Amino acid sequence: MIQTQVDLSHLNTLQLRSIAEHYAEVRSAEDVLSLLNDSETKSMSWHLLGGGSNLVLPSVVSGLTVKIGNHGRSLVDEDKDFWFVKAQAGEVWDDFVQFTLQHGYWGLENLSLIPGTVGAAPIQNIGAYGVEVKDYLWEVTCLDLRTGKSKVFTNAECRFSYRDSFFKQEGAGRYLVWDVTFRLPKKNQLHLEYGDIKKEVERRGLAANPKTISEAVIAIRQSKLPDPKVIGNAGSFFKNPIVSAETREKLLQTHPDLVSFPYGNGEFKLAAGWLIDRAGWKGKKLGPVGMYEKQALVLVNHGGANSEDVWSLADQVVRDVETKFGVTIEPEPIRW
Ligand SMILES: Cc1cc2nc3c(=O)[nH]c(=O)nc-3n(C[C@H](O)[C@H](O)[C@H](O)COP(=O)(O)OP(=O)(O)OC[C@H]3O[C@@H](n4cnc5c(N)ncnc54)[C@H](O)[C@@H]3O)c2cc1C
Repeated sequence: MIQTQVDLSHLNTLQLRSIAEHYAEVRSAEDVLSLLNDSETKSMSWHLLGGGSNLVLPSVVSGLTVKIGNHGRSLVDEDKDFWFVKAQAGEVWDDFVQFTLQHGYWGLENLSLIPGTVGAAPIQNIGAYGVEVKDYLWEVTCLDLRTGKSKVFTNAECRFSYRDSFFKQEGAGRYLVWDVTFRLPKKNQLHLEYGDIKKEVERRGLAANPKTISEAVIAIRQSKLPDPKVIGNAGSFFKNPIVSAETREKLLQTHPDLVSFPYGNGEFKLAAGWLIDRAGWKGKKLGPVGMYEKQALVLVNHGGANSEDVWSLADQVVRDVETKFGVTIEPEPIRW
C-alpha cells in the first residue's frame, strides 16, 4: 500500500516538480486506520492530497502523502423543501455538481467546473459567481487523525469565511474530511447577479435555470482561466484583500477606476487581479513562472518550475502591490 519516492508532478495542477518520500492512497476508513495503527506511518507527518489544485508543493514532500480516494454519492434524506445529498471526499467536485443537477438537486450550479475534490471544498470554502460552498453545506464527517474516531461538524462548527474555515486554521493537519452532506433546495434560487452569467445565458438564447447557469459558468470559466492540463496553475493565486471603507475611499482618490465590492460590516473586497494588473504584472514572466496574460490573478508555470520559482514571483508581486497601493495581498493556495 505504501510507495516511496513518488513523483507528484502530475498530481498538482501547478505541475511543480515534487517527490513524495512516502505515498499511499486511501479508499476506505479501514485504509486510514491501518496507516494510523502502523507505528512507522503513524509517526510520519501526514499531507492530505485531493486533486492538488490549491497547493504549492516543495521539491520533496517529507513524511507521508495520503491521497484521498474514497468514492460514492447518494441522496440520503429529504424534507418538504430540501434534498440531503452526501458525497465521499475523493469524488471529483464538478462530477458531483453535474450529478446533483441531473437529479434536480439545485444550488451548486454557480460552482461548476471548480477543479479538485469534494473533500477539499470545505477546506477553503470554495466560491465562485456569488455562491460559496457554505451556502449549501449541511455537515462534514471527518476522521480525527489523533484518535482515529469520526467526528461530524455542523455548518456553524466549520466556521466558514471568505476562502477560509476551521479546517484551514486550527483544524489543519488533524481532521481528514471523509464525506460531505449538502442541503439542496427543491425550489431553485437562481444567482445571476454576479459576473457575466446573465449575459452569457441570454447570448445563448436560453431561459435561466440551474442547468443553463451551469453551462454558462463553464463557458465563462473556460474562456477566462487557463486549463491546468495545458498550462500549470492553481486558479486565483491571491485572495481579494478586505479593507475598510476609509482605505477604499483614499485609494479611489488616486485610482478612480479601482474595482471593489461591498463585503458587509462597512468593509470592501478589492479585486486583487486589478491591483496586480495595475502594478504592471499582467503577462510578466520571471524565469519559468509568470502572471497569466489574460488574467493577472493567475500565476502560471510555463514549464519546469519549482516552488522556489513560485514564491519568488509571488513575493515580488506582494511587495509591489504593497508599495503601489499600501494594501497587502495574501496567497490563496496552501504551502506544504
Ligand atoms: C483553474 C483553477 C480554477 C480554480 N477556481 C477556483 C474558484 O473559482 N473558487 C475556489 O474557491 N477555488 C478555485 N480553485 C482552487 C481549487 O480548485 C479549490 O481550492 C479546490 O477545493 C481544491 O481541491 P483539491 O482537491 O485539488 O485540493 P488539494 O489542492 O489537493 O488540497 C488543498 C488543501 O486541502 C487539503 N485537503 C484536501 N483534501 C482533504 C481532505 N479530504 N481532508 C482534509 N484536508 C484535505 C490539503 O491537505 C490541502 O491543504 C481553482 C483552481 C484551479 C486550478
